[in-house]
Amino acid sequence: MAVAEVAAGRAGNQTERGVAMKIEERASVACPYCGELMELRIDCSEGSQEFQEDCPVCCKSVTISVVLAESGISSVEARPEE
Ligand SMILES: [Zn+2]
Repeated sequence: MAVAEVAAGRAGNQTERGVAMKIEERASVACPYCGELMELRIDCSEGSQEFQEDCPVCCKSVTISVVLAESGISSVEARPEE
């Protein structure tokens, strides 16, 4: 997964966000603790973002990292909260 590469590509291109992008996208990502899929709703108007989400199965706090591209969600990463 080329997460770092995608993020770097976005960095210099913040002003050219696509107008056709949906406001809210759905994505699912596996919980880093229990492996259960977590259903996420991502606000695409926020751009690439990081937020905390509690796993509905094991109730642990997970850090979600979302990278957005012109056409929508490029990648979603979940990792244990530090
Ligand atoms: Zn979990």
